[in-house]
Amino acid sequence: MLSKRIQNLIPSGTIGAQAEVSRRIAAGLPVVNLSLGEPDFPTPAAISQKAIEAIRKGYTHYTPVPGIRPLRELIAKKFLSDNGIAYAPEEIIVGVGTKQILYSAFQVLCETGDEVLLPIPAWSTYAEQAKLAGATVKLIPLQPPFRVTARDIEKHISSATKIIVLNSPSNPTGAMISEGELKKIASLAVRKNIFVISDEIYEKIIYGKKHISIASFGEDIKRLTITVNGFSKAYAMTGWRIGYAGASREIVDAMTALSGQMTFGTCSISQYAALQALRGSDASVRKMRAEFQKRRDFVCRELSKIKSISFAEPEGAFYAFFDITGLLGSAYKTSEEWTRALLESEGVAIVPGEVFFAPGYVRLSFSAEMRELKKGIEKIKHFIYAAKK
Ligand code: PLP
Repeated sequence: MLSKRIQNLIPSGTIGAQAEVSRRIAAGLPVVNLSLGEPDFPTPAAISQKAIEAIRKGYTHYTPVPGIRPLRELIAKKFLSDNGIAYAPEEIIVGVGTKQILYSAFQVLCETGDEVLLPIPAWSTYAEQAKLAGATVKLIPLQPPFRVTARDIEKHISSATKIIVLNSPSNPTGAMISEGELKKIASLAVRKNIFVISDEIYEKIIYGKKHISIASFGEDIKRLTITVNGFSKAYAMTGWRIGYAGASREIVDAMTALSGQMTFGTCSISQYAALQALRGSDASVRKMRAEFQKRRDFVCRELSKIKSISFAEPEGAFYAFFDITGLLGSAYKTSEEWTRALLESEGVAIVPGEVFFAPGYVRLSFSAEMRELKKGIEKIKHFIYAAKK
């Protein structure tokens, strides 16, 4: 009865992991939840306050499909000042989270049979959305520290290649592409006339490095790039469902036409809240980043004491992604089995690498309070050393 498209859809593994955690909590079982894909901080009060004001003022109706004008203007300003990309407000679209923006981008660009290049490990949503748009996904396997290069990409290009997906900093690896490499990727994309979907949602959560946007390298690459971003991670606004992109007018108009039939734009109240996020000071972002940095340093220090695992230090985002192949064998054959056993015996939730096309790895989110992190890592050590006895 159901369509082939939906039968072929692989449900989100990270959402699945959360559902399992909720089930255990509902059953009264203790859980140290290190699987979260969202900041554990509250949305800054000034942002929430603006939303309340918006409701009081009656800004509770349909808005223009690509977003309210002041928000598109502010996002254009943000792209210029933060990222060095000059988009006109008409080249900005706001949507129901970055997820819907990405979905629309694949829908408006892909024909059946087009190829989408996806460097892995990667967030699985890109692959599922590309498939829903009729495209074939070609995976580009990367080696630690998982920074994609122009050479990796070039080897996988064919006459059917339509899009390269970039995600720097990356979920799940935290890897960032250097400016030099990004320039080479930009030249390659321009030379081969391939679109780039650049998901920059973790741009504000980085540790010492500078975030660079590929579309900032000139008009040729800007024309081919959809620069995707959102409010979920930088402003702890996951539940507000608001994301955005900058792209050519033609692409934005097409995405707007699609949204017009799909969502009629995003929540009016969230858009007024987002205005405040961009107008307000960056203090809350800086505070959150500093706290994430402390946690990252702690997690890396502790994990590096465990000899049987290995990992590259994350340069951004809030995940530690480590190789547990040394722990697999007759008891647990896959990282899926290993994480399930970790949850059952120690009550610690992390996400298996299979979810990110990376069997043998696991993702630990440090979007949890220091106390929980300490407890979680102690339990992981206990699990590993108990298994070795
Ligand atoms: N892009 C990446 C790389 C993510 O990790 C996530 C969420 O986990 C998203 C996009 C989704 O963001 P949004 O809440 O704006 O849909």
